Amino acid sequence: MTVKKDYRCDLHIHSCLSPCADLLMTPGNIIREALRIGLDFIAITDHNSAGNVRAAMELARDSGLKLIPGMEVETREEVHLLCYFPVLESLLEWDEIMQMNLPDIRNDEEFFGYQLYTDENDEYIAKEERLLTVASRLSFSEVVEGVRGLGGMVVPAHVDRPVNSVIRQLGFIPPDEEIDIIEISRNTGAGKFLEKHPYLQHYVYITGSDSHYLTDIGKCGREERGFPLTEELYIFLEEFLN
Ligand SMILES: [Zn+2]
Ligand SMILES: [Zn+2]
Repeated sequence: MTVKKDYRCDLHIHSCLSPCADLLMTPGNIIREALRIGLDFIAITDHNSAGNVRAAMELARDSGLKLIPGMEVETREEVHLLCYFPVLESLLEWDEIMQMNLPDIRNDEEFFGYQLYTDENDEYIAKEERLLTVASRLSFSEVVEGVRGLGGMVVPAHVDRPVNSVIRQLGFIPPDEEIDIIEISRNTGAGKFLEKHPYLQHYVYITGSDSHYLTDIGKCGREERGFPLTEELYIFLEEFLN
């Protein structure tokens, strides 16, 4: 199994459906920027919702950019998990489960920001009234089991962060869970971090930009043009890239 081309990816990007993201983060703008800087694969991973992914996939069609259906889930333990699916239908199935497991808290737009849905013309069409940046009712194990059951993959997000990381919230990565890849934040040197945490070294790591602004897309650690799709990453991601 060899990776023939120098593929570049950014698998952690928030659209304007995430209240913390800039309003210019429409799927169309994200795709244009990703193509401009030469990315091959991206994932739009909004907090606890896949609401803008279908429109984004429509917009990316025939563009040369491949979108991996994704979401950033917050578990009951306040752990952020990046969830990826091989096809849109599985993500949407998971989205239904997520929506049933979100608490009913109204979004305070002035405080948290707008949560906007867009269509295949990249226009705003509706607002999500329920706050998406909250802990869901699903546990870490329930998310891993549910996502894997739909053919998806779970990647603990920004494991180095002092908040919302599996290391901070649970103290460790449960060894009996099926986790192959972890994400290390772009501002933390992955090499140094793994030196300090040798027990994490057997995981394959990835760095996403966690972009909330267009100018951050593709900034994945030392890499300014997306994270390189290494052979070891490819082994796990292959079925998500077709
Ligand atoms: Zn996060
Ligand atoms: Zn994020």
